[in-house]
Amino acid sequence: MSTYDYDLFVIGVGSGGTRAARMAASTGARVAAAESSWLGGTCVNVGCVPKKLLVYGSHFSEDVEDAKAYGWDLKIEGFDWSRLIENKNTEIARLNGVYRRLLDNAGVELFETHAEIIDRHTVQVGDRTITTDKLLIATGGWPTMPDLPGIEHAVSSNEVFYLESFPKRFVVVGGGYIALEFAGIMKGMGAEVTQIYRGEQILRGFDGDVRETVASEVRKKGIDLRTGVNIWEIEKHDGTLLAKLTDGTEIVADCIMYATGRHPRIDGFGLEKLGLEITKQGAIKVDDYSRTSLDNVWAIGDVTHRMALTPVAIHEAMAFYRTEFLGDPTPVDHADIPSAVFSQPPVGSVGLTEEQAREAHGELDIYRSTFTPMKHTLTGRDEKTLMKIIVDQKSQKVVGVHMVGPDAGEIIQGIAIAVKMGATKQDFDRTIGIHPTAAEEFVTMRETAA
Ligand code: NDP
Repeated sequence: MSTYDYDLFVIGVGSGGTRAARMAASTGARVAAAESSWLGGTCVNVGCVPKKLLVYGSHFSEDVEDAKAYGWDLKIEGFDWSRLIENKNTEIARLNGVYRRLLDNAGVELFETHAEIIDRHTVQVGDRTITTDKLLIATGGWPTMPDLPGIEHAVSSNEVFYLESFPKRFVVVGGGYIALEFAGIMKGMGAEVTQIYRGEQILRGFDGDVRETVASEVRKKGIDLRTGVNIWEIEKHDGTLLAKLTDGTEIVADCIMYATGRHPRIDGFGLEKLGLEITKQGAIKVDDYSRTSLDNVWAIGDVTHRMALTPVAIHEAMAFYRTEFLGDPTPVDHADIPSAVFSQPPVGSVGLTEEQAREAHGELDIYRSTFTPMKHTLTGRDEKTLMKIIVDQKSQKVVGVHMVGPDAGEIIQGIAIAVKMGATKQDFDRTIGIHPTAAEEFVTMRETAA
């Protein structure tokens, strides 16, 4: 029997911390956890969950327009941002409760307060000094705001979910996941949206065809996507914001949001006392099992800056639990992780981009298909779906699959199983399609692209 108060102490109960704490406790280990802000972390409170609800909310304007071709005469009477935010907040509060119960039912002692690390086996929680055998840091990440004059007038993804009124003129800075998602959300809800991206093409790191397709589709939807430009100063005049751009132009806005990346949360809880190795990106350095440079201290999720995705944090939590509590050393597997950008239209991707695949495999067979989603054959909406399969020519293994179009996330999740299993193009070919779906295109593409 250990002489410590607990076998495991977890700092931060987001997706990863909660899973690790619950699973460890299920083995009979004595587990405690501390959380100073939101139960459920970024994903539940200011990330995936509320974002997806807002994406749903933003779709109705197009759906009502599209309904006409299907015989419906519908009229939009208005849009009430406050009602949507209130309903969203009710759902988040319910989920906070679910997290509290999950931990409680698992027998995890939860301290809903700040925890301060004293040393590798000691944590201060309020006026209690607690000792622990193992320490798991799962403090997540935080939006990064660049330093420029007037940045205090801008919001990040933390505040945008709680805006008191709907911003009719919305500016979003960034060309990644969050910027695209919010450009689509605000556009769908009726705002005039400008998206500012400093580089040449949005979605750096994604497949080239995906990047081009998304840029073209969001522009068709009326988002003023400006590339190769940045904001250098923000001024506030009587509640209205003025963004001054590096190309000499100015934009008047009700809200300017920065979606310029997220950084690991390593400050403010005594981490420096441990002297852990920190990476160039300011993340806690861990090995393949999520162990830090101290053998009883572990870190998972966004604080390690490996892949800032909820299911990845959960996977890392499970690998930690298996390794430390089941005696089954389990390295984290970061290969072929699918992801989606809930832009409009959305993106789904798994495996390598064409650019990465060329570097890794040399000769490739590329299958590409672009078509109008069936729904829009009646509505006449000018929207294109892109599907792309990247195959290593020699082995015929499918090494990357990408899609831009309705339900891309749902479709790619299924395809990701095949890719993870090492499916070949011939495996795709001998799979029968489901007709009529968009997804069947993935098993019927026969001609390689030029
Ligand atoms: P991303 O890293 O995806 O994108 C950041 C964007 O901001 C890039 O376009 C980057 O440009 C730009 N940028 C960075 N610094 C500056 C600056 N100083 N001035 C102007 N532009 C700048 O980060 P996000 O904030 O969108 O999201 C953070 C992470 O959260 C994602 O990487 C993802 O892991 C996760 N996430 C996942 C979601 C999902 O799964 N659907 C949804 C939301 C977030 P450049 O390309 O030139 O570097």
